[in-house]
Amino acid sequence: MSTLIGKTVVVTGAASGIGAAVTAAARAAGADVVALDVQGTSSVRQLDVRDAGAWSALAGELADELAQGTTPGEGAVDGLVNCAGTTWRARLGDVSADALERVHAVNVLGPLLGIQALAPLMGSGASIVNVGSLAALQGHYPIAYTTSKWGLRGLTHAACLELGSRGIRVNIVHPGFIDTPMTASAPKEFRASSISATPLGRPGSPTEVAGVITFLLSDAAAFVTGAEIPVDGGASSHGGAKGVSDALLPTYTPAQ
Ligand code: NAD
Repeated sequence: MSTLIGKTVVVTGAASGIGAAVTAAARAAGADVVALDVQGTSSVRQLDVRDAGAWSALAGELADELAQGTTPGEGAVDGLVNCAGTTWRARLGDVSADALERVHAVNVLGPLLGIQALAPLMGSGASIVNVGSLAALQGHYPIAYTTSKWGLRGLTHAACLELGSRGIRVNIVHPGFIDTPMTASAPKEFRASSISATPLGRPGSPTEVAGVITFLLSDAAAFVTGAEIPVDGGASSHGGAKGVSDALLPTYTPAQ
């Protein structure tokens, strides 16, 4: 297991699904985790990722803690996981300008504000992990969500370029179909067709995504930056060829 002992890691979207699993996995690996979500709970601090003022208040507090020597490590922050996300499933003909802006505000502006607030507190070896989507690797049907996740890929690569000289790594993981409250609200046809397009033939779990994110946060990934890692049971690897392959299997006879 990757170790995060002595690291302070900030996780957004920590109240649910993948963000909650990342919080648990990072704590189990020894990190001090600052868990954030728009839905605050007793163990998750309330923070709306769209709120630049809230980000700068958090950065001020973390910088004060460092000054008082209560935060270990070289910087006040060693990791940031931009996991908060939202979807909107309107298709091409129906999506409104408001919906597009709403989704992009959470999925693209939120990570940008987090990076702007916390990168100044990071030292060499720090790691930023953005949570993209299979929808960022292909043309998926929800227009606002798909365009926002493609935007987050762009942010990842631009930030990797700019922060590399300070030794800060920036990577993105692309979950496929993962069982969380977000996918529980999707039409049942979406679940069935997503699983059928997945070579491993099953949904992923939040813990399986969290394992890859924990690796990227850790020093085991010290030379990995600007990488895009699908965590999708192979769904992005076949470009639609799985349907053809599956259709032919019943009639397959070994070549003579
Ligand atoms: P989820 O709905 O269980 O969790 C998302 C969390 O983000 C929620 O707790 C929500 O309150 C929080 N959030 C939403 N808006 C916020 C805001 N403005 N500020 C702070 N927090 C906010 O969903 P999940 O499936 O765990 O999704 C986590 C991430 O993984 C998202 O970025 C999502 O797009 C991505 N993802 C999920 C899947 C999947 O199959 N579940 C697939 C690909 C990508």
